Amino acid sequence: MSTVGLRDVSKVFPDGTVAVDGVNLDIGNGEFMVLLGPSGCGKSTILRMIAGLEDPSIGEVLLDGEPAATLTPRERGVAMVFQDFALYPHMSVGDNIGFPLKVSGQANREDQVSEVAGALGIGDVLARRPGQLSGGQRQRVAMGRAIVRRPRLFLMDEPLSNLDSQLRGELRAEISSLVRELGVTCVYVTHDQAEALTMADRVAILRRGVLQDVGTPTDVYGRPATLYVAAFLGSPRMSLMEATVKVVLDRYVALRLGDQELHIPWKDLRARAVARYHGERIVVGVRPEALLPVPMDSPGDVLRGRIRHMEHHGHESLAFVDVGATAVVVDEMATPANGRMPATRGLRKFIDRLVGSPAQVAVEERAHHAEDGGGGRHSRKPAELVVRLAPYPGVNAGHPLAVAVRTDALHFFEESGNRIDVGHR
Ligand code: ATP
Repeated sequence: MSTVGLRDVSKVFPDGTVAVDGVNLDIGNGEFMVLLGPSGCGKSTILRMIAGLEDPSIGEVLLDGEPAATLTPRERGVAMVFQDFALYPHMSVGDNIGFPLKVSGQANREDQVSEVAGALGIGDVLARRPGQLSGGQRQRVAMGRAIVRRPRLFLMDEPLSNLDSQLRGELRAEISSLVRELGVTCVYVTHDQAEALTMADRVAILRRGVLQDVGTPTDVYGRPATLYVAAFLGSPRMSLMEATVKVVLDRYVALRLGDQELHIPWKDLRARAVARYHGERIVVGVRPEALLPVPMDSPGDVLRGRIRHMEHHGHESLAFVDVGATAVVVDEMATPANGRMPATRGLRKFIDRLVGSPAQVAVEERAHHAEDGGGGRHSRKPAELVVRLAPYPGVNAGHPLAVAVRTDALHFFEESGNRIDVGHR
């Protein structure tokens, strides 16, 4: 078992790419930490720095409080599992699993291999070669090879992304319960938010090398720190709409969404927080679970609109309803046009030394992005509320629909992208 600490860690590659930018993160003993973000956000680079395969350009990685740079690979006690399994094709399954034991010259290898293989349900294929296995079996072999080393730390880089979705679902549960049973600290990289939310003790969400939010799945889903995190987590995604704030003192705060209004009663603590934005525009986030279809003439906090399109998922149907509001669309990947990650000013000197003038471009990019407060550069289009309906309901595209809105479940963000802190509820 092991703890991991990242202290102001940045990674700039020799061509000036800033892959990781000022990340601070503490991972506890036995914790299952998932690093989540879109392709290119720096997840694998962080994992590789923890493994000692890359050195941070700035900052420090600590393992059990010791600077990792001072530890030998053996002292690090790290086992990695990769997306492509990285098995030796010419070796049997048994030899693949036992390989780390052979390298370290351990005795009674066969016993250990069959114990691990038995636990993973691949005890009957030990004599086969990897090419004679299914994808799921190959991933179990890769897990077995990691487990047999009795590591202090598992590092897993998208280990399920080459598998079909049903198998991914099964192995998700298997991996997380196995890792917890072993009590080994695990850092798990994925771009799949459902995987992150179902497997993690805590999730760390990255965007362009910058850490956006860290917390339990319930925290980051229920109280996303930025618009970017709000937009990234949840399926269906949160609807994000522009709203103008109007305060009617001691009574309510009105949120104007196109031609319609929602009212947050003054006694709701959140009304006071939002009231600071009187006369300004903010972003209101609403997830499907905050919406309930009601008759068109229902009173109260109701939004009315027309169904733009439907999606039928078997167990439920989703109606995408145009309520006349303007959507805020978060640009979730947005690799800068020059292909470089933007850099914070703290990195400027370092990059300047490294690559000279091109770094300037990256830094200027960052200044531009700073305007969005790390929440996501976003663009605008008509908003759609996503409303859950019974399977194959008697409505179609073009039909009017009214939904009651649970105003206590709304999320509020500044236009810059940062969450409006409404205190604890
Ligand atoms: P993916 O999910 O696609 O693997 P990731 O979030 O793991 O993405 P990284 O592989 O950490 O992202 O890469 C972060 C950024 O660093 C990307 O822009 C990538 O192109 C860049 N990068 C990675 N390795 C190098 C390298 N050796 N030299 C230059 N740039 C690199």
